[in-house]
Parts: sequence; C-alpha cells; structure tokens
Amino acid sequence: MPAKGRINRFFLRNALFPLAGLVLAVPTGPEPRADDGRTTPLKERTVLVQKRIAAEFDDLLTLYKHLHSHPELSLHEVQSAARMAKELKDLGFTVTEKVGGTGVVGVLKNGDGPTVLVRTDLDALPVTEATDLPYASKVRVRDANDNEVGVMHACGHDMHMTCFVGTARVLTALKNQWHGTLVFIAQPAEEVGMGAKAMLKDGLFTRFPRPDYALALHCDATRPYSTLGYTDGLALANVDSVDILVRGKGGHGAAPHTTIDPIVISARIVLDLQTLVSRETNPTDPAVVTVGSIHGGAKHNVIPSEVKMQLTVRSTKDAVRKHLLEGIQRIAKAAAEGAGAPEPVVTIDTEGFTPALLNDSKLAQKTASLFKEVIGEDKVQERPAVMGGEDFARYGKEGVPIFLFWLGTVAPDRVAEAARDEAKALPSLHSDQYHPIPGPSIKTGVLAMSMAVMNLMAKK
Ligand SMILES: [Zn+2]
Ligand SMILES: [Zn+2]
Repeated sequence: MPAKGRINRFFLRNALFPLAGLVLAVPTGPEPRADDGRTTPLKERTVLVQKRIAAEFDDLLTLYKHLHSHPELSLHEVQSAARMAKELKDLGFTVTEKVGGTGVVGVLKNGDGPTVLVRTDLDALPVTEATDLPYASKVRVRDANDNEVGVMHACGHDMHMTCFVGTARVLTALKNQWHGTLVFIAQPAEEVGMGAKAMLKDGLFTRFPRPDYALALHCDATRPYSTLGYTDGLALANVDSVDILVRGKGGHGAAPHTTIDPIVISARIVLDLQTLVSRETNPTDPAVVTVGSIHGGAKHNVIPSEVKMQLTVRSTKDAVRKHLLEGIQRIAKAAAEGAGAPEPVVTIDTEGFTPALLNDSKLAQKTASLFKEVIGEDKVQERPAVMGGEDFARYGKEGVPIFLFWLGTVAPDRVAEAARDEAKALPSLHSDQYHPIPGPSIKTGVLAMSMAVMNLMAKK
C-alpha cells in the first residue's frame, strides 16, 4: 500500500513539474525521506541541498575569508590542513592526517554503496596580493631560496577548501539521501605538482577505500559566477619543467675572442627552441615550449661563464612530450657544440611532472547533464582543453574515473566588460589581482559538488 502511494506521488510531481530543475519550487508538505528506499526526485533533493547551504552560508563565508587571508605555500600547508581535518572530524569522518606530507584523508561510511572521493587542494602561491579586499592576504614568508615573498591564494584553492567543507556539511546533514563511502581528501602541493603523487605513494588507494569515482572543482577566472564549465575527455596538459645550464668560458667583455660567450649560445638556444613546436610537432597536436626565466652575467663588461634557463613544456600526448623533451636536449647540445662550448646540463624535473588530465567521458557526461538540470542548461557550458596542468590527473592515471569541473567566480558585468574592451581584460588565475566573488561562488560550488556526489551515491 505505501509503495503504491509513493509511486502516485512520484508521477504526480513529475506531471506538475515537467521541466524538472529549471524552476526551483520549494515542495510543500513534509520533507521527503529516502531512507525508505525511494529515490527523492531531483528537484526536491536540490531544494534540500539549497536549504542546507543557506543554513551554513554565513559560516562558510567566514571560513573562506579566513582561508584567503591565511594562505600557505606548497608543502607548508600546516594550518590549512589542520582546519580541514578539524572540519571533517567535527562531522564524524574518520580522519587521518599527514598523508603524503600535510595531506588529510577523511572517510565516512554510510552503508553499502559506491565509494566517492572528493578532493580539495590546500596550497597558495608566492604572489604578493594586489587586490583591495578587506580580507586580502598580508602574509610574507621566506621561500626555499631564502627570498622574502608574499603569499596569496591566487589560484582559488581557498574557494576549493570552502566548497569542500560546505559539501561535507551538506552530505552529512542529508545522509538519508545517499549510501556508500565518502573519501574526502585535502591535498597539499598542487602548485608544484607533487601532492597527488605523494598522497598516492603514502597509500591513498591502499590504506583507505579505493574510490569508484573521484571529483574535484577548480575556480575559473573567465566565467561568470553561478555558472559551471566542463570538458569531456582531455581537459589539461602534460606539464614538464626543464632547467638548462649553458656553460661557456668567462672573460673581459672587450676581448670576446678569448672567451666562449654563454649569453650568445643561450640566445641561439632560445630561438632554436621555437622550431620544436612550429617545425617538428604535428600542428594538430597542441604543444608549448616557453623559456620563462633566463639569467646570466652581472656587469656590462664581463662575459659570464654560465647562463641558467628555466622552461615550461606542455603537451597532451606522451609521444609529443617525449619528442619535446629529447628535442630540448638535442638543440641545447647542438648550439653549444657549434660554439665549441662544453655540453650544457639539461635537467628534467621528473618529481614535478604533472600528467595530462583526462576526464572520464561517462562520468563527465552524467554529471554535466545533472548540472544542466540543477542550475540550468544555459549556465553549464562545455569548454575546450587548456594547456594548464592539474595533478588531480594522477588519480585518473591510477584507473579511477575522474571528473574536474570549472566553477565560475567572476562578476557577470566584469565578464561582459572584458569581452567588450580589451583594456578591461580579466585577471587570470595566478594573477595578484584575481579573486573569486565569494558569495555566489560558494553557493554554486557547494550545490554542484553535493549534487554530483549524491548523483553517484543516490539510493535506488
Ligand atoms: Zn594554480
Ligand atoms: Zn589551482
């Protein structure tokens, strides 16, 4: 008898709201319960989540501002990690700290069902904040080279943490809406490409339940708030860092014939490197070789004995990556040989390598179509891959279906203004001017992530 009543009610609701999700009406009557085995209609579940977000909102906004004004550099995320651990413990997660450095793993079991991993990163960047926000970071620290640097959440990882906490609160408050095991991880050192690797090496998938799915969101500095972006399949690139030490023979600037000038050799290398992408790589395969730093010499009239260069190398295919890395060594070596100089020292940073991020197509499509129903078809857009990197990719490389989606964070009028006027271009991620508009970003981020998780763990 109750079963029949439920079915009728279910059909009645769908008949009344044929465009489920486009209009969010607050359901009348008692709140639906799914612990009797019935699936709560999407629209009702959305309202339940929005109510929880409204209840938590002030506190989440305070948390966001606190995190924004207390950024920590990669591998030093001690306070941020402690805060994430405390938040998860307070919600009843079993929490393990210091996983792969400052990493935190929180596990919450809620009956049989799939295991879903939700990831936030923790780290900020060595950038001196130039916003005029009342909660702007004033933090300054000494970096690994003992230089004093400003520290800023210029990649929005503070927003990621806030949405992570918000999602954990929503899911624990609505435990009757889902079943299975949550694995919430706060990952260090994303910006240096080391955190995911370190957590995996420290047993993320062996000491803790291995996830059936892994989800993450990332702030988008080009997209209006209250919107989402996603990419089906390849979303972000292979990222390699390469150092080149060009060696010559120093001497007087007025007697170049008695020296081997490493500055001239370096200039040749910089130009020759441009042909790696333009002449040697298939134009349909995206690739980038950028010399981001070049340093040599100290004075007008002294030819130095060496020059140091730092490169970032991006690709999307393993074969292209291999060709670029070998090509850099070949070109550097040839330029030195041509000048009769000692062989340059080319160092590829294997520790900091970030593999290309491949969103699982099925998971991406399933979640993106949910997002369209929940926040509106016109507010969820597919976007092309970018040549940035994200070490969330590593969880996918371990065979777990992953999905990273983009959270719009910018005032819509600013996005429109930037489209009209080039001089009003939006600050990019990592800019000292970038900051998400917190209120709507938190609301959409928590709603999207909570709904995405429940979509995978809903009671059938
Ligand atoms: Zn970043
Ligand atoms: Zn980031």
